[in-house]
Amino acid sequence: MEEFIDVRDIFGCDVFNDQVMQERLPKKVYRELKKTIEEGTELSPETADVVAHEMKEWAIEKGATHFSHWFQPLTGVTAEKHDAFITAPMENGKVLLSFSGKELIKGEPDASSFPSGGLRATFEARGYTTWDCTSPAFVRHDAAGGTLCIPTAFCSYTGEALDQKTPLLRSMQAINTEALRLLRLFGNTTSRKVTPSVGAEQEYFLVDLKHWEQRKDLIYTGRTLFGAMPPKGQEMDDHYLGTIRQRVSAYMREVNEECWKLGVPAKTQHNEAAPAQHELAPIYEPVNLAADHNQMMMRILKKVASRHGMRCLLHEKPFAGVNGSGKHNNWSLTTDDGQNLLDPGSTPHDNIQFLLILTCILKAVDTHAALLRASAADVGNDRRLGGNEAPPAIISVFLGEQLGDVLEQLVQTGTATRSIRGTRMRTGVDTLPDFMKDATDRNRTSPFAFTGNKFEFRMVGARDSISFCNVVLNTIVAEAFHEACDVLEAADDFDMAVHDLIKQYATDHQRIVFNGNGYAPEWPVEAERRGLPNLPSMVDAIPVLTDEKTVKMFETFHVFTRTELDSRAEILYDMYSKVINIEARTMIDMATKQFIPAAVKYTTVLAESVNAVRAVGPVDTGVQLDLLRKTSEYLKELNAAMNLLAGLTEKLPSCREGKDRAVFCRRKIVPAMEALRKPVDGLEMIVDKDMWPMPSYGDMIFEV
Ligand code: ADP
Ligand code: MG
Repeated sequence: MEEFIDVRDIFGCDVFNDQVMQERLPKKVYRELKKTIEEGTELSPETADVVAHEMKEWAIEKGATHFSHWFQPLTGVTAEKHDAFITAPMENGKVLLSFSGKELIKGEPDASSFPSGGLRATFEARGYTTWDCTSPAFVRHDAAGGTLCIPTAFCSYTGEALDQKTPLLRSMQAINTEALRLLRLFGNTTSRKVTPSVGAEQEYFLVDLKHWEQRKDLIYTGRTLFGAMPPKGQEMDDHYLGTIRQRVSAYMREVNEECWKLGVPAKTQHNEAAPAQHELAPIYEPVNLAADHNQMMMRILKKVASRHGMRCLLHEKPFAGVNGSGKHNNWSLTTDDGQNLLDPGSTPHDNIQFLLILTCILKAVDTHAALLRASAADVGNDRRLGGNEAPPAIISVFLGEQLGDVLEQLVQTGTATRSIRGTRMRTGVDTLPDFMKDATDRNRTSPFAFTGNKFEFRMVGARDSISFCNVVLNTIVAEAFHEACDVLEAADDFDMAVHDLIKQYATDHQRIVFNGNGYAPEWPVEAERRGLPNLPSMVDAIPVLTDEKTVKMFETFHVFTRTELDSRAEILYDMYSKVINIEARTMIDMATKQFIPAAVKYTTVLAESVNAVRAVGPVDTGVQLDLLRKTSEYLKELNAAMNLLAGLTEKLPSCREGKDRAVFCRRKIVPAMEALRKPVDGLEMIVDKDMWPMPSYGDMIFEV
């Protein structure tokens, strides 16, 4: 019999959540902590001590031996340093276990080995991690045993953010302030807090461990750098939502259980478009929790894959020629009394508050389109965006039929008087129940699509943290709210002023709305006509982080200082160059040690065959000779391309720094890598499979 689990028993069982706090903390302490969590008031040292003690007792009961401040430096992955609870042995040789309020609140990891983009010299190593009590602590179980993980922010000695979380929390404050201001103008006196809600759908690939181990490109870079397309790709559309294989089902089941225990609300799972590609979506949560939970989920996806003899690939484009993986960031604004500010209701045309919020968002996205694009900049994402199955690198907004029509009315006449309604769905089959259709269809090609009561930002890469894109979303919308409130608070006639403002925003920013096919070749042309930025590469997108418009906005809302933005741009350039350099070196390594020897061996076999056949008599050796000629030609091309690439990578160490270096990688090294891939993929199509030194695309994506 299969072991039966009741999700209600395990959900959040390893989380120091509200229920545990209520049960374990003295009432007064609980109330003070709750106030800190909800209102951001300071926690007294005495209270912190009590919380820490109870947290430790609880964690020990859960099997924890260590605690760790868990943070998200700018490396793209999480970081942690473990300390055991034990204190110095007592005289009788026994140890005590302790965990103080100070240890809970503040940690001091050496910051010098994390990217800081020039914020500090290496000798200025101090960095602090600070407890983020809005994201609950949890006990993680793995080979290290149980570890009490405390979500923290990470800052330098001088207070600059060195992580993903700090700016995210700052941007949440900014949008809370401005959204409340806007709500007050509409007579709302009861809501006390507005929080961005986010649900991040996570795409990933699974490959067999034995295949992964034979591919240096997957090991070193997370993606395949070579590989000819198999006879079948994803053209049959038979994988998307297809029956999940038993091996993968068993994997998903364990992933879910591990997620649920840690309070990660894993909800939807299915096969994605490409063979071997899958998706896991959680239920939406406040954005800082969603960001932490997404990191935990990615770690679980990888860890459980190893247990099942597989590897989970989170790269944005592990295989050329089939879909890449993204992270769809569903974003809305929720009040503490449960309203979704992005819910248009059934008649959006007369929902003035919604129309103002909507047009503010259009304004924000149009004004900062390039920045929003930059917020999804990641080396791997360069290979995905604009590919035929992902949004292009041009930001536009999909509103759909209903809101598109309302906007059109606003622009044309200044007032919207009607909303298109959903009609009854008729299938023509009597036994199927009729139901009301949504007023608006979906659009899977738009990078920023309205989907009923939220926006779905589809550009983010699968491996990336969702923090930065939400920092940008929160702040650009906060700015738009701020500017609208400035106008409306000063107006004599509010109704008139809001009417005019909505019309003005709708008209001025209509160009950002695009309801058509974002994958069509006509769109970039049309977008250029509209003056919308098209930034195909990460390297093209980075400069916007430090342009005046961006700096001014982030400084105004205290989300980033100029110095922090400079350092982030620097880190991104550096990351780009490093990743490309590793990819190039891996290609050279594989070409030298694997592909050239394989091809040479094949030519030898062919030549021997020619001689052997000729020895028999006057038999035609045309086929062998033809193959020999083709193989030799590819070999020659391969060798030339490899020498070129090797020459370029050798130049790299001496070549400039920062931006120049990244531009050199993008302009020179990336094309040279593509030139090397071509003859290798050509060879793969003709060389004897038994002689080919690694599993093919077909082996990897169809044999999981
Ligand atoms: P799909 O886009 O695949 O059809 P859904 O629309 O149901 O799936 O949800 C996708 C994600 O959006 C889920 O993570 C879900 O929790 C999240 N989501 C749903 N409603 C909201 C909302 N109001 N705000 C933010 N995220 C939401
Ligand atoms: Mg979706």
